[in-house]
Amino acid sequence: MKFICDDNLGKLAKYLRVLGYDTLFKSEIEDGELLRIALSEERIILTRDSKLKALRSAERVILIRFYDPAEQLQQVFRELELKPQKNNTFTRCLDCNTELVEIPKEKCTQRIPSYVFKTQERFLHCESCDKIFWAGTHVERLSEKLRSFIPD
Ligand SMILES: [Zn+2]
Repeated sequence: MKFICDDNLGKLAKYLRVLGYDTLFKSEIEDGELLRIALSEERIILTRDSKLKALRSAERVILIRFYDPAEQLQQVFRELELKPQKNNTFTRCLDCNTELVEIPKEKCTQRIPSYVFKTQERFLHCESCDKIFWAGTHVERLSEKLRSFIPD
């Protein structure tokens, strides 16, 4: 299940990435390009724009009805009957959607605060934008509402 979000849905895109869904988002994207990418990569279009031309021509579009990103996420889960998958969470870069790879703690020494080094064991690296993630960075960015999408 892959997604592409229109430029109103940046927060929703991040939420979906946290949960492990392959989700494209660009801050400015034309309708034509959005549709072209959606079709060629078989992505479901998520949009707030009821006038989007793609609504008529694309097969898989969800018109997002809510303003609040957590409610938007609930709508997507409801309409696609998705179930939260614990194993998928925190597997993608929040910023660029690339799949993260684990890196040994020792390799992060220079790049993370010492309190993180002391308290965290698992570190993930984005090879595309060279960011390092650990549980704290993700969790801090999650709202309480999003937590309900991640099983214990
Ligand atoms: Zn990245």
